[in-house]
Amino acid sequence: MTEPSVFTRILRGEIPAEILSETENVFVIRDIAPQAPLHLLVIPKTAEYRDVTELAAGDPALLAEMVAVAKDAAAEHGSGDFRLVFNTGSGAGQTVFHVHAHVLGGDLAEGSLGG
Ligand code: 5GP
Repeated sequence: MTEPSVFTRILRGEIPAEILSETENVFVIRDIAPQAPLHLLVIPKTAEYRDVTELAAGDPALLAEMVAVAKDAAAEHGSGDFRLVFNTGSGAGQTVFHVHAHVLGGDLAEGSLGG
């Protein structure tokens, strides 16, 4: 068995974090190191999928549920407009290999991906 991910440990209550909302399959927390005025993480409760490519292939309905939850969370905690980011692979900045979506909102800096 591999070590449980930080997100599994949060879900178990072993690492403190406020769960902002949840469904049967997905939960939402604030990122501990926000990169935008609004920075939430939408995380499947299962740790089965390491990244979004595995999730899309293995359970596209769960990926769609993550997008729907991201939309609702961005509306509840921000303006409703948001950027959805899945870092995929360590070379792209992924550090936790339990798939999760970054929901970024607020006054986002202009950069190569937006603005
Ligand atoms: P990644 O780099 O894998 O795309 O994203 C992992 C994210 O998880 C990072 O933005 C990091 O700040 C966040 N993170 C890591 N550990 C914790 C934690 O214990 N609590 C919370 N709320 N976020 C965490």
